[in-house]
Amino acid sequence: MARYTGPVCRLCRREGIKLFLKGERCYTKKCPVDRRSYAPGQHGQTKKKISEYGLQLREKQRARRFYGILEAQFRRYFAEAERARGITGEALLGLLERRLDNVVFRMGLGASRAQARQLVRHGHFAVNGRRVSIPSFSVKEGDVITVTEKSRGLDQIKVMAEAARGRVVPGWLEMDLENLRARVTHLPRREEIDVPLQEHLIIELYSR
Ligand code: SF4
Repeated sequence: MARYTGPVCRLCRREGIKLFLKGERCYTKKCPVDRRSYAPGQHGQTKKKISEYGLQLREKQRARRFYGILEAQFRRYFAEAERARGITGEALLGLLERRLDNVVFRMGLGASRAQARQLVRHGHFAVNGRRVSIPSFSVKEGDVITVTEKSRGLDQIKVMAEAARGRVVPGWLEMDLENLRARVTHLPRREEIDVPLQEHLIIELYSR
């Protein structure tokens, strides 16, 4: 599947927020957002008046980049959110949170969503006992996500498990770090999704 392979820190600087795309480096003083808090490029420091459309577009791009999703797939999530009951913006974020790569990241078993996605792709995780290697797999209430038996002994997984100690797990996941598993206790609610997004702007953009 296609994915963005350019410099990721530029994306954060473009959006003006930390998107946490580089793992541990994002939490250090080396983060370029902290050191150069303006957009990249020759005109990055030029002050521009941003239109309403521009604001909406930026918010959509932020959401996409936060979860590492390309435009076509993001539109599909929007279409699904529109069909769902309740507030479309909250449904959209809920769908994004339920992606398996995001769940692995939330479990603390990936330093970034990109790393979590790679671990999923390499078949290190199972849902309800069945190996799943599709990062966009959507978890449901009651699902149990585990590291597969075969992968438990891998150094990479051990390092991840060690790094996961002390990571805060959202309230919709019940984490059992000793057994490298998590259970989805309920579907994520908006107040449990700590992404700095104004989802109503995304809805306004797609409703034009
Ligand atoms: Fe973004 Fe992390 Fe790079 Fe900082 S270090 S700019 S948060 S990817």
